[in-house]
Amino acid sequence: MTQPQAEILSQGDELVMGQIADTNGAWLSERLTELGFSVTRHTTVGDEVHTLTTVLREIAARADLCVCTGGLGPTLDDLTAEAVAQAFARPLKEDPEALRQIQVWFAGRADPMPEANRKQAFLPEGSRRLDNLRGTAPGFALDHGGCRFFFLPGVPHEMEFMFERLVKADIQSSFPTRPVQRVTLRVLGVGESTLQQRLDPFALPPGIKLGFRTVPPENHVKLQFPADFPVPERDLLIDEIRRAIGTAVFSIDTPERPEGTLIECVDRLMRHADASLATLETVSRGHLAQLCGAFGWWTYGLVVPDGRAVVQHLELSPGNGPSDGPLDVAAIATHLRRRHGTSHALACMESPRNPSELVIAVASEVGTARVRHSLAGNPGYRRALSAALALDFLRRTLPAP
Ligand code: ATP
Ligand code: MG
Repeated sequence: MTQPQAEILSQGDELVMGQIADTNGAWLSERLTELGFSVTRHTTVGDEVHTLTTVLREIAARADLCVCTGGLGPTLDDLTAEAVAQAFARPLKEDPEALRQIQVWFAGRADPMPEANRKQAFLPEGSRRLDNLRGTAPGFALDHGGCRFFFLPGVPHEMEFMFERLVKADIQSSFPTRPVQRVTLRVLGVGESTLQQRLDPFALPPGIKLGFRTVPPENHVKLQFPADFPVPERDLLIDEIRRAIGTAVFSIDTPERPEGTLIECVDRLMRHADASLATLETVSRGHLAQLCGAFGWWTYGLVVPDGRAVVQHLELSPGNGPSDGPLDVAAIATHLRRRHGTSHALACMESPRNPSELVIAVASEVGTARVRHSLAGNPGYRRALSAALALDFLRRTLPAP
């Protein structure tokens, strides 16, 4: 089965002039690929009717589906409906229900409806209105020249809501697509080139796409399987790949079972172990606390600039951190756990001897473990990397469910 071809059309001067990035296009592309479309092209045009009409006609002639965002608002630079009217010879007509909904939207607010908003109720003849439950601009859908068009507002949360609520079901019932199976292995602490080397020996069966993506500080290995690829065979292959990469894989997302982000994995393990956590961090500058902040098992967090402040805040005595020698991060984690009565304590600091070395220690009832990593990159990256490595070390010490 050949995949239907989809295109994305993003509209707005802000986009072509670089004042905002086209996140709508990226978001929609990902959804459409998941749904089984081949997304062949993204087009971005400014607020100019002639350019828009030209592009609309071109897309109608070559694509099966087009999702267009932006330009549905009440202002003079919002030209989408007008361009559609001209491109496809479908004059604009007032849609009484659209007008009513816009009036209701304003009735719920303090200000009366500005006359300019009436323009949003005019839709191209023969189009289907797509109600906007989160804003004033209704969208619309129409078929032209073998292509189905969806026109959605530019505001990302309105657009996403309408896509999920109205567009997705329409697409699924009108196109003979089957969603591809996407699998993501999330990896920490192994670079892209090493990943590539470890995966070199794999001869992937035809039809499977392999890709890499860096989402600092993580690397993701992405596999795309055809819709009809047998799941047991898929899972065997994923398991082989996971073993080839090693313990640096902290999570695997499959369509049936997304394991999620590092903190989501840690959360599951912490809840499973009925554990509680105290943290202490220097080099991650509060990033660790921020990641743990939403979870009930995190009961204490200390963020300090350096080792000296650690000694002051924890009132360390020579017994739990030698006063004359360098600070022992393992001793600090042990002390922190005892002091705050938690099942686990996690300390994440730069080495007192070498500021480009990170030392992480986890204390628990079975003892205290410590690990070192080298730290490189700009301060923002070091911050994110050290927090992630600390969480990952904690993850490795927690029992599997
Ligand atoms: P409105 O009724 O708010 O005018 P609209 O459909 O006319 O909605 P635009 O005016 O094109 O949409 O865009 C509204 C806002 O949505 C923009 O200022 C921008 O912040 C955001 N936006 C528009 N297009 C995109 C896009 N492709 N990616 C990300 N954000 C976008
Ligand atoms: Mg607008």
